[in-house]
Amino acid sequence: MARVRDIGPAGQGVDQGTPAVQVSGLRKSYGEREVVRGVDFEVEAGECFGLLGRNGAGKTTIIEICEGYVQRDEGSVLVLGEDPASPSPTWRARLGIVPQEMELLPTLTVSETIAMFRDLYPHPREVSDVLHLVGLTERGRSRVRGLSGGEKRRLDVAVGLVGDPEVLFLDEPTTGLDPEARRSTWSMIEGLKDHGVTIILTTHYMEEAQLLADRLLILTEGTVAASGTFDELLHQHGSVSTISFRLPAGTETSGLALPALEGNFTDGNALEFESMDVQSDLSSLLDWARTNSVEVSGLQVSRDSLEDLFLSIGQATGSGELQEATR
Ligand code: ADP
Repeated sequence: MARVRDIGPAGQGVDQGTPAVQVSGLRKSYGEREVVRGVDFEVEAGECFGLLGRNGAGKTTIIEICEGYVQRDEGSVLVLGEDPASPSPTWRARLGIVPQEMELLPTLTVSETIAMFRDLYPHPREVSDVLHLVGLTERGRSRVRGLSGGEKRRLDVAVGLVGDPEVLFLDEPTTGLDPEARRSTWSMIEGLKDHGVTIILTTHYMEEAQLLADRLLILTEGTVAASGTFDELLHQHGSVSTISFRLPAGTETSGLALPALEGNFTDGNALEFESMDVQSDLSSLLDWARTNSVEVSGLQVSRDSLEDLFLSIGQATGSGELQEATR
């Protein structure tokens, strides 16, 4: 979903409606080995785009081509309307890059670190703004060496944000963090989305991608195995939802018209069935319950997670290799 950019001036700005990133027919080989094999995708301005795939799938290569650090062999790439292979002098300052690991000086304070990186950009954000955006306002005077893992990762993101980027590349922002730090990093990223920053997120955590990414691309061995919103991916892969509920013992269910209901009593009066159309099946169930004055309890709807989908795509491609990426 495109959002209006509202976090202040940043270079030339990308036209409304023009994708922030456009990649078409992208190919890259290292020696004899083609590691990116005809990849196409677009990232809309203001969206969070999740790039997923097992180790070695080609994610970093694609990101580094988009950042202008690696040259492509074939295809076209435009980032903020410019070719990263031959950008204008001001182009790089419009990007924010948060790699998997950053070496920051342990003896500087958090504020000093941000101030040091500020000097590299023509239109940097104020240190206090950046501290606020990443939730480190209270830690401005702390030394880098004293930060927790989660705080350190937030400071990495702060360094990526200090130039007030239009596109932020976030590479595995929560790897190695404990669940609490991971959740607070997710809130921070949601805050950045609300501020209109275009984010390209790579992650191994399917829960993270499902929560944060507006659209997803799953890479397998340098090709696009699937792409779209989470709902589109579920639909494309014929995923079904499961509806389960309980009825009072002895309830007569013959008038209840639900697919494959017969024989699905899993435990006495508990029922479970697979639904391809949750909305329609739920309204049939509730209409029936209302008409017949039956109390439906314990109603639950569960659907495949991105992880389930990831595993099924791994099996469908015959490699099963995607499964490793979810571990
Ligand atoms: P991912 O980020 O999905 O783990 P990468 O893009 O890092 O995947 O790597 C894709 C493939 O390209 C891997 O097999 C990796 O070993 C190979 N590769 C990446 N960078 C280089 C390089 N500089 N030289 C040779 N091979 C590379």
